[in-house]
Amino acid sequence: MDGFPSFLAVIGHPIGHTLSPVLHRAAFRALGIDASYTAYDVAFERLPEVVRAMRTLEFRGFNVTIPHKTAVIDLLDECTPTALRMGAVNTVYVSDGKWIGDNTDGAGYLLSLGREHGFAVQGKRAVLLGAGGAAMGVADALLGAGLDALWILNRHRAKAEALARRLAQHYQTNIVTGTIAEWPRERVDLLINATPVGMVGFLEGELPVPPDVFHERMLVSDLVYRPLVTPLLAAADKAGAKTSGGLGMLVGQGALAFERWFGVFPSMDAMLAAAMAELDGSASK
Ligand code: NAP
Repeated sequence: MDGFPSFLAVIGHPIGHTLSPVLHRAAFRALGIDASYTAYDVAFERLPEVVRAMRTLEFRGFNVTIPHKTAVIDLLDECTPTALRMGAVNTVYVSDGKWIGDNTDGAGYLLSLGREHGFAVQGKRAVLLGAGGAAMGVADALLGAGLDALWILNRHRAKAEALARRLAQHYQTNIVTGTIAEWPRERVDLLINATPVGMVGFLEGELPVPPDVFHERMLVSDLVYRPLVTPLLAAADKAGAKTSGGLGMLVGQGALAFERWFGVFPSMDAMLAAAMAELDGSASK
């Protein structure tokens, strides 16, 4: 370090509920790094001037969330192949003076599955509920890791089909699209909820799948982390399936972003503990 703290941030709109500052500040503390990480609420039309300002102030990097993940691409010097495949950036870092856009969402998801369950993707079959931005990141990572078959089931079939077409430009894996009524007859090893169904304040208490789809060798993963134990995870657990909550992906993508910025891998345990404490605190308010 050169005696000055490193500046980092997350930009989005709205940004009030982000856990990113909590995660990264915990990682700074655990490693004794002198850095600041701030959340900025940036309206869509102000994105170019904010990115220019961060360059001028020599930020070490930043995270990007909705609605800027695609628009930021044109404001950077380069993007990684992952970010270009997804058409979305969640992490910006500096390398050789260039501002590089990357996307650590999918890799962060895989990292959390491996860490929590030793889950190896190769040869497995997965059902993905949802076809939005989070589903894109997860699907890209699973296919890149050698998934055997993927069903994308979405409320609006056309959106599942559009996602499948996009993925098929890069991967040979068999992808089937449909709605939840078209649950596969084949064995499903991994079920991922990438919809907001079950989230606090939005379809709270609801299950995104029929209650009879679980089995004991299935890993059920919910990207929703408010509440920490969603109705889907509770039902899967009751049926004897393994479960994985949404904080794992959040921490995984954050840890990989941190590694891009500092060249060292942070303590995911410290990040996870800080996020859980924050969620516990906000739930009891
Ligand atoms: P998005 O781009 O808006 O996509 C939302 C998806 O959910 C769409 O496929 C949409 O289906 C579906 N959906 C919305 N309401 C639904 C309903 N009532 N019933 C069934 N399906 C519904 O959102 P996103 O960014 O992908 O985020 C999806 C979820 O993942 C959110 O809950 C978000 O909090 C969570 N997430 C978690 C992480 C993490 O790190 N854990 C990261 C990102 C996102 P249609 O296409 O039919 O509208």
